[in-house]
Amino acid sequence: MRQQQWQGPQQRPEFPPRFFWIVLLLASMFAATYFWLLPFLGINVGGRSGNNIDPAPYAVKIAQSAYQWRATHVRTGHNFGGALIVVKYRDGTLQQYPLNDRNIIIYEGEDLPNDLDPNRLHSERQTDREFIRPLLQKFRSTNGFDNAIEIQVIIFSQYPLCPSCVSDMRSWQDEYCKIAGFPNLYLSGWQLTKTFYPNSQDKRRREQPVVNGEEDIEMVNLTPKSR
Ligand SMILES: [Zn+2]
Repeated sequence: MRQQQWQGPQQRPEFPPRFFWIVLLLASMFAATYFWLLPFLGINVGGRSGNNIDPAPYAVKIAQSAYQWRATHVRTGHNFGGALIVVKYRDGTLQQYPLNDRNIIIYEGEDLPNDLDPNRLHSERQTDREFIRPLLQKFRSTNGFDNAIEIQVIIFSQYPLCPSCVSDMRSWQDEYCKIAGFPNLYLSGWQLTKTFYPNSQDKRRREQPVVNGEEDIEMVNLTPKSR
């Protein structure tokens, strides 16, 4: 009888809570280090759009600037487009350049059929030559990227990006990385979802599509040649 007392109902060993918390702490430390390190290792978990900056809302802003530009200028059959450069800094701040949406530079693009380089004045080519490369260079020379963890270059064009420019643009991301002296830089190209024809005989097709949000623009595949 005495023995039964000792045997009693067997207690199942409880899961030690202290052990659980140590494992959780180690796991979160590992995860934090891993994600903190990613940008420095140049590992791109989110595809070619980078880890930190979503380019779509910025592309919408450029599209809206281009819309305003066309709406307030003499009707033209030419294209309108521009770019924003967005930097994410180590302390978590996001900054776009130009700082103010009203200062987004909109380039008027046109074909030069008799030129050696007929696409020289396309809006994306002007944006690249006159805005993006000089700004990246300037930032580099003033150590402006010292505290950056990611850079996004976002180009928008009202007209669909032409195949010959798209072919050129596939090497721009790598060229921008070199100019900026910064590996964690991504380029994306955007255009209107609904194409329009400002020179069309049909008045309805001449109306430029209003840009309300991300559904009114689409990204163009610019996967770099080197990857
Ligand atoms: Zn083009």
